[in-house]
Amino acid sequence: MDVTTARERLESMLAELDRSIGVLRGDPVAVRDRSAADAGSDLTDADRAQAMLTVTTAQRRAVVDALKRLEAGAYGQCVDCGKPVPEGRLEARPEAARCVQCQSKQERRR
Ligand SMILES: [Zn+2]
Repeated sequence: MDVTTARERLESMLAELDRSIGVLRGDPVAVRDRSAADAGSDLTDADRAQAMLTVTTAQRRAVVDALKRLEAGAYGQCVDCGKPVPEGRLEARPEAARCVQCQSKQERRR
């Protein structure tokens, strides 16, 4: 994947994520359920919105980091071992920071 395509894909992902985060933060349903939760009732929906927000925020950070690597000319290199991240992996996940090997090591560490 060339740098221009990567940038376009990352920027559209970022726009999409920003939109989702805005909706999740401003969601009147989530807000109403949060006050209901304060009253001690069911907090499932508010919890779900919060969980979504956590995932989406982490995803956004990964995309921002990938854009920074693009700027630095380091895009497509594994941040741990410096080897090229396979093209197919970048196609599937343009924000991927690590090769498959380092990513699985990272996930085991968690
Ligand atoms: Zn690696």
